[in-house]
Amino acid sequence: MLVNLNDVLKQAQKEHYGVGLFNTTDSDMLEAVIAAAEELNSPVIIGTAEVLLPYGELKLIAPSMLAAAKRAKVPVVVHYDHGLTFDRCIEALKLGFSSIMFDGSAGEYEENLAKTREMVKIAHSFGVTVEGEIGHVGQASSEDNLLSDMYTTKEEAKAYVEATGVDALAIAIGTAHGVYKTKPQLNLERLREIRASIDTPLVLHGGSGLSDDDFKNTVRDGIAKVNIFTDLCLAGQRATEEGLKRGLGYLETRNLKVEFIKESVKNKIMLFGSANKA
Ligand SMILES: [Zn+2]
Repeated sequence: MLVNLNDVLKQAQKEHYGVGLFNTTDSDMLEAVIAAAEELNSPVIIGTAEVLLPYGELKLIAPSMLAAAKRAKVPVVVHYDHGLTFDRCIEALKLGFSSIMFDGSAGEYEENLAKTREMVKIAHSFGVTVEGEIGHVGQASSEDNLLSDMYTTKEEAKAYVEATGVDALAIAIGTAHGVYKTKPQLNLERLREIRASIDTPLVLHGGSGLSDDDFKNTVRDGIAKVNIFTDLCLAGQRATEEGLKRGLGYLETRNLKVEFIKESVKNKIMLFGSANKA
């Protein structure tokens, strides 16, 4: 069934588990993620991000994501991840996404605040939830995770959620997007401080490549939503290589891809503790 972030994250926060956002830029990923969530009876979040649209046009993939969510046996949020422009966010709203992230974190603080507040007002009038970001989760390729002056502070987090009314908040505590060059060091102390100062569910971006302990610790200390994408791409890539090695055809390789991605998602669901929470 199609639900929004509030329907899954409030319970996750209360019961100390995390719900995964697995971006699904094509129907192979979509099938894999929904099957994994159904097999483990877990709520799940699917979606795509603005930077991923060149790999799967929004108008083309949105209907299949929504259809998959509606017929699923478990709660599924269809989330527009890292919305960067007003027009694309509104397009996602019109297409029927149940949740959007407005990411103004690269801009000035005041501008981020004003734009996010406006987006919240519009999205809420559609019953759509909004995730915002304060501090900046950058790119692993440029080692942005090492820049601790971009980490979120509890004062910033509190002021931001009060001013914008976001339903979930992405924070920067030492993760980055993509493949890490060196093992990331997460600032759990900072996470606990932020958790203690606001009620809004917290989101960890840049989850691919973290250790099992990193997931367990961050979920224990207050993360309610974890974003995963790179790991799914790596699982799909391994399946493609395996298919070539085994001399499989296109369709058999496609099925192997679904299988590998599904295993990767199931592994994350178990780590986040959301199995049997649907
Ligand atoms: Zn992200």
